Amino acid sequence: MHIGFLGLGNMGGPMAGNLIKAGFTLSVFDLSKDAVNKLVEQGATAVTSPNQFAQQQVDVVISMLPAAPHVKGVFLGEDGLLKHLQKSTLIIDCSTIDPHSAREVNKVATELGHKMLDAPVSGGTMGAQAGTLTFMVGGTDADFTSAKSILAAMGKNIVHCGACGNGQAAKVANNMLLGISMIGVAEAMALGVSLGMDAKVLAGIINTSSGRCWSSEINNPFPGVLENVPASRGYTGGFGTDLMLKDLGLATEAAKLCKQPVIMGGMAQQLYQAFSLQGNGQLDFSAIIKLYHKE
Ligand code: NAD
Repeated sequence: MHIGFLGLGNMGGPMAGNLIKAGFTLSVFDLSKDAVNKLVEQGATAVTSPNQFAQQQVDVVISMLPAAPHVKGVFLGEDGLLKHLQKSTLIIDCSTIDPHSAREVNKVATELGHKMLDAPVSGGTMGAQAGTLTFMVGGTDADFTSAKSILAAMGKNIVHCGACGNGQAAKVANNMLLGISMIGVAEAMALGVSLGMDAKVLAGIINTSSGRCWSSEINNPFPGVLENVPASRGYTGGFGTDLMLKDLGLATEAAKLCKQPVIMGGMAQQLYQAFSLQGNGQLDFSAIIKLYHKE
Protein backbone atom coordinates (compact mmCIF):
# COMPACT_ATOMS: atom_id res chain seq x y z
CA MET A 1 0.00 0.00 0.00
CA HIS A 2 1.35 3.44 -0.94
CA ILE A 3 0.88 6.20 1.66
CA GLY A 4 1.50 9.93 1.23
CA PHE A 5 2.48 11.49 4.60
CA LEU A 6 2.26 15.23 5.22
CA GLY A 7 3.71 16.96 8.29
CA LEU A 8 6.85 15.29 9.64
CA GLY A 9 7.31 17.19 12.92
CA ASN A 10 7.72 15.91 16.47
CA MET A 11 4.73 13.61 16.05
CA GLY A 12 4.47 13.01 12.30
CA GLY A 13 8.18 12.17 11.87
CA PRO A 14 8.22 9.14 14.18
CA MET A 15 4.72 8.08 13.06
CA ALA A 16 5.89 8.00 9.43
CA GLY A 17 9.01 6.11 10.54
CA ASN A 18 6.85 3.43 12.17
CA LEU A 19 4.85 3.02 8.94
CA ILE A 20 8.08 2.39 7.02
CA LYS A 21 9.18 -0.16 9.67
CA ALA A 22 5.80 -1.91 9.22
CA GLY A 23 6.48 -2.31 5.48
CA PHE A 24 4.32 0.46 3.94
CA THR A 25 5.63 2.39 0.92
CA LEU A 26 5.87 6.05 1.92
CA SER A 27 6.07 9.33 0.02
CA VAL A 28 6.55 12.29 2.31
CA PHE A 29 6.19 16.07 2.33
CA ASP A 30 6.99 18.78 4.86
CA LEU A 31 7.89 22.46 4.56
CA SER A 32 11.09 21.59 6.45
CA LYS A 33 13.74 19.96 4.26
CA ASP A 34 15.50 18.55 7.35
CA ALA A 35 12.34 16.78 8.42
CA VAL A 36 11.93 15.29 4.93
CA ASN A 37 15.58 14.19 4.77
CA LYS A 38 15.27 12.27 8.06
CA LEU A 39 12.46 10.17 6.54
CA VAL A 40 14.28 9.72 3.22
CA GLU A 41 17.19 8.23 5.22
CA GLN A 42 14.69 5.71 6.61
CA GLY A 43 13.45 4.70 3.16
CA ALA A 44 10.73 7.21 2.20
CA THR A 45 10.52 9.02 -1.15
CA ALA A 46 10.42 12.84 -1.00
CA VAL A 47 7.89 14.82 -3.05
CA THR A 48 8.22 18.55 -3.68
CA SER A 49 4.54 19.41 -3.20
CA PRO A 50 1.55 17.58 -1.66
CA ASN A 51 -0.11 17.51 -5.09
CA GLN A 52 2.58 15.06 -6.25
CA PHE A 53 0.83 12.48 -4.05
CA ALA A 54 -1.93 12.61 -6.65
CA GLN A 55 0.50 12.03 -9.55
CA GLN A 56 1.91 9.05 -7.65
CA GLN A 57 -1.65 7.73 -7.18
CA VAL A 58 -1.18 7.07 -3.47
CA ASP A 59 -3.89 4.93 -1.86
CA VAL A 60 -3.88 6.84 1.42
CA VAL A 61 -2.92 10.35 2.59
CA ILE A 62 -2.07 10.92 6.25
CA SER A 63 -1.65 14.44 7.63
CA MET A 64 -0.14 15.51 10.97
CA LEU A 65 -0.16 19.30 10.81
CA PRO A 66 -0.05 21.99 13.52
CA ALA A 67 -3.61 23.36 13.42
CA ALA A 68 -6.87 23.79 11.45
CA PRO A 69 -5.63 26.59 9.12
CA HIS A 70 -2.80 24.28 7.93
CA VAL A 71 -5.20 21.37 7.39
CA LYS A 72 -7.73 23.53 5.51
CA GLY A 73 -4.94 25.18 3.52
CA VAL A 74 -3.49 21.86 2.36
CA PHE A 75 -6.78 20.13 1.55
CA LEU A 76 -9.23 22.93 0.68
CA GLY A 77 -6.94 25.75 -0.51
CA GLU A 78 -7.18 27.21 -4.00
CA ASP A 79 -4.94 24.50 -5.42
CA GLY A 80 -5.86 22.10 -2.58
CA LEU A 81 -5.00 18.43 -2.53
CA LEU A 82 -8.62 17.21 -2.53
CA LYS A 83 -9.10 18.49 -6.08
CA HIS A 84 -6.09 16.50 -7.31
CA LEU A 85 -6.32 13.13 -5.59
CA GLN A 86 -7.79 10.22 -7.48
CA LYS A 87 -11.32 9.35 -6.35
CA SER A 88 -11.71 7.01 -3.36
CA THR A 89 -8.38 7.98 -1.80
CA LEU A 90 -8.54 7.43 1.96
CA ILE A 91 -7.51 10.57 3.88
CA ILE A 92 -6.63 10.27 7.56
CA ASP A 93 -6.08 13.58 9.34
CA CYS A 94 -4.29 12.97 12.63
CA SER A 95 -3.77 16.68 13.48
CA THR A 96 -5.57 18.04 16.54
CA ILE A 97 -8.15 20.51 15.21
CA ASP A 98 -11.69 21.52 16.16
CA PRO A 99 -14.52 19.11 15.29
CA HIS A 100 -16.28 21.72 13.12
CA SER A 101 -13.24 22.17 10.86
CA ALA A 102 -12.81 18.39 10.65
CA ARG A 103 -16.44 18.07 9.49
CA GLU A 104 -15.98 20.92 6.99
CA VAL A 105 -12.98 19.22 5.32
CA ASN A 106 -14.73 15.85 5.44
CA LYS A 107 -17.81 17.25 3.70
CA VAL A 108 -15.79 18.52 0.73
CA ALA A 109 -13.72 15.32 0.61
CA THR A 110 -16.86 13.20 0.52
CA GLU A 111 -18.45 15.41 -2.17
CA LEU A 112 -15.34 14.88 -4.32
CA GLY A 113 -15.61 11.10 -3.91
CA HIS A 114 -12.88 10.56 -1.29
CA LYS A 115 -13.07 8.80 2.06
CA MET A 116 -12.02 10.71 5.14
CA LEU A 117 -11.36 10.02 8.81
CA ASP A 118 -10.37 12.40 11.60
CA ALA A 119 -7.95 10.50 13.84
CA PRO A 120 -6.30 12.73 16.46
CA VAL A 121 -3.95 11.04 18.90
CA SER A 122 -2.95 11.05 22.52
CA GLY A 123 0.30 9.66 23.88
CA GLY A 124 2.68 12.49 22.99
CA THR A 125 6.04 12.25 21.29
CA MET A 126 7.06 9.21 23.36
CA GLY A 127 3.95 7.35 22.17
CA ALA A 128 4.64 8.44 18.58
CA GLN A 129 8.17 7.02 18.78
CA ALA A 130 7.16 3.81 20.53
CA GLY A 131 4.16 3.24 18.23
CA THR A 132 1.83 3.17 21.24
CA LEU A 133 -0.44 6.13 20.45
CA THR A 134 -4.18 6.12 21.10
CA PHE A 135 -6.16 7.06 17.99
CA MET A 136 -9.64 8.58 18.42
CA VAL A 137 -11.26 8.03 15.06
CA GLY A 138 -14.30 9.66 13.47
CA GLY A 139 -15.80 8.41 10.21
CA THR A 140 -17.81 5.59 8.66
CA ASP A 141 -17.53 1.97 9.80
CA ALA A 142 -16.14 0.93 6.40
CA ASP A 143 -13.42 3.61 6.36
CA PHE A 144 -12.50 2.83 9.97
CA THR A 145 -12.08 -0.84 9.05
CA SER A 146 -9.87 0.04 6.04
CA ALA A 147 -7.67 2.29 8.20
CA LYS A 148 -7.21 -0.06 11.14
CA SER A 149 -4.11 -1.92 9.93
CA ILE A 150 -2.41 1.39 9.04
CA LEU A 151 -3.19 2.97 12.41
CA ALA A 152 -2.11 -0.21 14.20
CA ALA A 153 1.43 0.37 12.86
CA MET A 154 1.53 3.66 14.80
CA GLY A 155 -0.65 3.02 17.83
CA LYS A 156 -1.87 0.57 20.43
CA ASN A 157 -5.44 1.72 21.09
CA ILE A 158 -7.57 2.51 18.08
CA VAL A 159 -11.05 3.62 19.05
CA HIS A 160 -13.92 4.30 16.68
CA CYS A 161 -15.73 7.30 18.21
CA GLY A 162 -18.58 7.47 15.69
CA ALA A 163 -19.25 9.82 12.78
CA CYS A 164 -16.75 12.21 11.29
CA GLY A 165 -15.59 14.91 13.74
CA ASN A 166 -16.18 12.68 16.75
CA GLY A 167 -12.48 11.79 17.01
CA GLN A 168 -11.77 15.49 17.53
CA ALA A 169 -14.74 15.76 19.91
CA ALA A 170 -13.27 13.00 22.10
CA LYS A 171 -9.83 14.59 21.97
CA VAL A 172 -10.96 18.11 22.97
CA ALA A 173 -13.15 16.77 25.78
CA ASN A 174 -10.32 14.63 27.20
CA ASN A 175 -7.69 17.36 26.97
CA MET A 176 -9.98 19.95 28.53
CA LEU A 177 -10.44 17.61 31.50
CA LEU A 178 -6.66 17.09 31.67
CA GLY A 179 -6.05 20.85 31.77
CA ILE A 180 -8.64 21.30 34.51
CA SER A 181 -7.50 18.31 36.58
CA MET A 182 -3.88 19.48 36.56
CA ILE A 183 -4.93 22.83 38.05
CA GLY A 184 -7.04 21.00 40.65
CA VAL A 185 -4.12 18.80 41.67
CA ALA A 186 -1.75 21.79 41.80
CA GLU A 187 -4.19 23.70 44.02
CA ALA A 188 -4.76 20.74 46.36
CA MET A 189 -1.06 19.84 46.65
CA ALA A 190 -0.14 23.46 47.41
CA LEU A 191 -2.88 23.74 50.05
CA GLY A 192 -1.92 20.48 51.78
CA VAL A 193 1.77 21.45 51.87
CA SER A 194 0.96 24.94 53.19
CA LEU A 195 -1.06 23.28 55.94
CA GLY A 196 1.98 21.23 56.96
CA MET A 197 1.70 18.00 54.95
CA ASP A 198 4.72 16.34 53.38
CA ALA A 199 4.19 16.47 49.61
CA LYS A 200 5.03 12.78 49.00
CA VAL A 201 2.76 11.58 51.82
CA LEU A 202 -0.06 13.81 50.56
CA ALA A 203 0.35 12.56 46.96
CA GLY A 204 0.30 8.97 48.27
CA ILE A 205 -2.98 9.62 50.09
CA ILE A 206 -4.58 11.33 47.06
CA ASN A 207 -3.45 8.46 44.82
CA THR A 208 -5.18 5.89 47.02
CA SER A 209 -8.23 8.09 47.65
CA SER A 210 -11.00 9.75 45.70
CA GLY A 211 -8.82 12.60 44.39
CA ARG A 212 -6.71 10.22 42.31
CA CYS A 213 -6.27 11.08 38.62
CA TRP A 214 -3.55 11.05 35.91
CA SER A 215 -2.34 14.50 36.99
CA SER A 216 -1.83 13.33 40.59
CA GLU A 217 -0.55 9.85 39.88
CA ILE A 218 1.48 9.93 36.65
CA ASN A 219 2.50 13.57 36.23
CA ASN A 220 2.27 15.05 39.73
CA PRO A 221 3.09 18.78 39.49
CA PHE A 222 4.79 19.05 42.90
CA PRO A 223 8.60 18.94 42.55
CA GLY A 224 10.23 15.84 44.00
CA VAL A 225 7.07 13.76 44.43
CA LEU A 226 7.75 11.59 41.37
CA GLU A 227 11.02 10.86 39.61
CA ASN A 228 11.29 11.20 35.83
CA VAL A 229 8.44 13.67 35.44
CA PRO A 230 8.73 17.30 34.26
CA ALA A 231 8.19 18.62 37.83
CA SER A 232 11.44 16.94 38.89
CA ARG A 233 13.52 18.37 36.03
CA GLY A 234 12.49 22.03 36.04
CA TYR A 235 9.29 21.34 34.05
CA THR A 236 11.25 20.62 30.86
CA GLY A 237 10.03 18.03 28.35
CA GLY A 238 6.44 16.81 28.57
CA PHE A 239 3.42 18.65 27.19
CA GLY A 240 4.04 22.38 26.82
CA THR A 241 1.74 24.97 28.39
CA ASP A 242 1.19 26.54 24.96
CA LEU A 243 0.10 23.16 23.52
CA MET A 244 -2.38 22.81 26.39
CA LEU A 245 -3.56 26.35 25.64
CA LYS A 246 -4.13 25.38 22.00
CA ASP A 247 -6.30 22.42 23.06
CA LEU A 248 -8.29 24.48 25.59
CA GLY A 249 -8.86 27.06 22.85
CA LEU A 250 -10.25 24.30 20.61
CA ALA A 251 -12.52 23.11 23.43
CA THR A 252 -13.90 26.55 24.28
CA GLU A 253 -14.39 27.48 20.60
CA ALA A 254 -16.14 24.19 19.87
CA ALA A 255 -18.30 24.71 22.98
CA LYS A 256 -19.29 28.19 21.80
CA LEU A 257 -20.50 26.81 18.47
CA CYS A 258 -22.76 24.23 20.13
CA LYS A 259 -23.76 26.60 22.98
CA GLN A 260 -22.39 24.24 25.59
CA PRO A 261 -21.12 25.83 28.82
CA VAL A 262 -17.51 24.93 29.70
CA ILE A 263 -17.11 26.99 32.84
CA MET A 264 -14.12 25.18 34.32
CA GLY A 265 -12.55 24.77 30.87
CA GLY A 266 -12.81 28.53 30.31
CA MET A 267 -11.24 29.28 33.71
CA ALA A 268 -8.44 26.80 33.03
CA GLN A 269 -7.79 28.44 29.66
CA GLN A 270 -7.45 31.86 31.33
CA LEU A 271 -5.07 30.52 34.00
CA TYR A 272 -2.77 28.90 31.42
CA GLN A 273 -3.02 32.07 29.31
CA ALA A 274 -1.82 34.23 32.21
CA PHE A 275 0.91 31.69 32.97
CA SER A 276 2.08 31.66 29.35
CA LEU A 277 2.11 35.46 29.26
CA GLN A 278 4.61 35.36 32.12
CA GLY A 279 7.02 33.57 29.75
CA ASN A 280 6.19 29.98 30.72
CA GLY A 281 4.63 28.77 27.44
CA GLN A 282 7.36 26.21 26.78
CA LEU A 283 7.26 24.67 30.28
CA ASP A 284 5.27 21.47 30.85
CA PHE A 285 1.69 22.41 31.76
CA SER A 286 2.17 20.93 35.27
CA ALA A 287 4.32 24.03 35.96
CA ILE A 288 0.98 25.81 36.53
CA ILE A 289 1.62 24.90 40.20
CA LYS A 290 4.03 27.87 40.23
CA LEU A 291 0.91 30.06 40.50
CA TYR A 292 0.19 28.37 43.86
CA HIS A 293 3.49 27.32 45.34
CA LYS A 294 6.90 28.94 45.61
CA GLU A 295 9.82 26.49 45.62
P1 NAD B 1 5.31 20.12 14.93
O1 NAD B 1 5.24 21.60 14.89
O2 NAD B 1 6.50 19.46 15.54
O3 NAD B 1 5.15 19.53 13.44
C1 NAD B 1 4.30 20.04 12.47
C2 NAD B 1 4.98 19.85 11.13
O4 NAD B 1 4.08 20.27 10.10
C3 NAD B 1 6.26 20.67 10.97
O5 NAD B 1 7.33 19.82 10.57
C4 NAD B 1 5.91 21.70 9.89
O6 NAD B 1 7.01 22.03 9.05
C5 NAD B 1 4.85 20.93 9.11
N1 NAD B 1 3.97 21.76 8.31
C6 NAD B 1 3.34 22.91 8.66
N2 NAD B 1 2.59 23.36 7.61
C7 NAD B 1 2.75 22.47 6.61
C8 NAD B 1 2.24 22.37 5.31
N3 NAD B 1 1.42 23.29 4.81
N4 NAD B 1 2.62 21.32 4.54
C9 NAD B 1 3.46 20.38 5.04
N5 NAD B 1 3.99 20.42 6.28
C10 NAD B 1 3.63 21.45 7.05
O7 NAD B 1 3.96 19.65 15.65
P2 NAD B 1 3.68 18.24 16.35
O8 NAD B 1 4.10 18.32 17.79
O9 NAD B 1 4.19 17.16 15.46
O10 NAD B 1 2.08 18.25 16.35
C11 NAD B 1 1.33 17.93 15.19
C12 NAD B 1 -0.13 17.82 15.61
O11 NAD B 1 -0.25 16.80 16.61
C13 NAD B 1 -0.72 19.09 16.21
O12 NAD B 1 -2.02 19.26 15.76
C14 NAD B 1 -0.67 18.83 17.72
O13 NAD B 1 -1.66 19.54 18.42
C15 NAD B 1 -0.92 17.33 17.75
N6 NAD B 1 -0.42 16.63 18.93
C16 NAD B 1 0.83 16.92 19.42
C17 NAD B 1 1.29 16.23 20.54
C18 NAD B 1 2.66 16.50 21.11
O14 NAD B 1 2.94 16.04 22.23
N7 NAD B 1 3.54 17.19 20.40
C19 NAD B 1 0.48 15.25 21.16
C20 NAD B 1 -0.77 14.96 20.61
C21 NAD B 1 -1.20 15.66 19.49
